[in-house]
Amino acid sequence: MDMEAIQQLNDQHIINTYGARKLALVRGDGVRLWDAEGREYLDFFAGIAVCNLGHCHPKVTEAICEQARTLVHVSNLYYIEPQVNLAALLCDHCFADKWFFCNGGAEANEAALKLARRYWFQQGTPRPDVVVAEQSFHGRTMATVTATGQPKYHQGFEPLLPGFHYVPYDDIDALTEAITPEVGLVLLEPLQGEGGVRVPKPGYLPAVRQLCDDNNVLLAFDEVQTGLGRTGSLFAYQNENVIPDIITLAKGLGNGVPIGAMGCSDKVAEGFSPGSHACTFGGNPLSAAAALATFEALVAPGFIEEARETGNYFIQQLVELATGFDCIYEVRGRGLMIGVEFDRGVAPLIERMLAAGIICGPAGPTVLRFLPPLIVDRAAVDRVTAALRAGLEGLGW
Ligand SMILES: *Cc1c(COP(=O)(O)O)cnc(C)c1O
Repeated sequence: MDMEAIQQLNDQHIINTYGARKLALVRGDGVRLWDAEGREYLDFFAGIAVCNLGHCHPKVTEAICEQARTLVHVSNLYYIEPQVNLAALLCDHCFADKWFFCNGGAEANEAALKLARRYWFQQGTPRPDVVVAEQSFHGRTMATVTATGQPKYHQGFEPLLPGFHYVPYDDIDALTEAITPEVGLVLLEPLQGEGGVRVPKPGYLPAVRQLCDDNNVLLAFDEVQTGLGRTGSLFAYQNENVIPDIITLAKGLGNGVPIGAMGCSDKVAEGFSPGSHACTFGGNPLSAAAALATFEALVAPGFIEEARETGNYFIQQLVELATGFDCIYEVRGRGLMIGVEFDRGVAPLIERMLAAGIICGPAGPTVLRFLPPLIVDRAAVDRVTAALRAGLEGLGW
């Protein structure tokens, strides 16, 4: 099908939650994508931090095909071999002792929110309230959109869930003030993604951990975007060695096959008991096999270290470029999760990049965001930096 035919069917039959799209991408290989017209692109967005190993990674493709020939789905009423192997491997590399599998980020956070409430209920001391950060993003279900500290996502969906409190991100005093005896959970991204690629000051996350310990409050890190090597460590909590009680994963977990996960300590896991939570598809044979192959590749010796070095190089190139452009406020990020904040809207710049064959995206109206596959090399980074310079010059910024 050509682009026009795809667009026409889309407009006729797809509910318009995404607006007009610029491309119909039909094929991918590594960091490259092709559209319906056969035009090639360099992908510096990776399906929003999903295809961390690049498109159609041979090991993941092989695992998917093999599992599809063997068994695609059985329910969680039965033991699932790829799922238990995935959980065991995650445990080898993460603080968590136990996992619950679901289909994506919102469901993983939903599970975390329910687990925290249920945990305090089981303890006999209900502490149902949750503190979250402004400019956070935790998903689009009713509970997770409530947890998302951005009014634009709330509009028209009120009444939101009760018991949520919003504090400025990276402000330990504000968080301290928000902790009351009703609060049982603090939910944060260790580095905010959709809210503008915001890296907290060194010491903030350790102070949050201390505050939660002092007040007997659970701490959950939403690592849906930051996890799986994105920030130059396998998990962002490892950057400052701050161990949460609960972690949520999704995006990069299956390298494109939908799967989410919530992990926690043995103690916190006791909040759930048979019947208290469930998910039909969660960790089914197909998605678990894809995630297992993905995770094995991520933890191969040297893989994440190399991605971290490429990220450092990219940030350094962008910082250098920024010195020549007053319209750039700040270059920030960690590993290969990078934002460039401008003094104006970045939509025309993203379009220029696309015209130059480079896919990137926004994080809010004024932040240009790069989330390339972790396999990206310096030559690709150089191409993107050069295209960005040309784009800025072309726009007369
Ligand atoms: C994308 C994202 C989510 C939501 O994930 P879905 O799979 O779209 O439900 C939640 N939290 C963070 C930090 C995200 O980046």
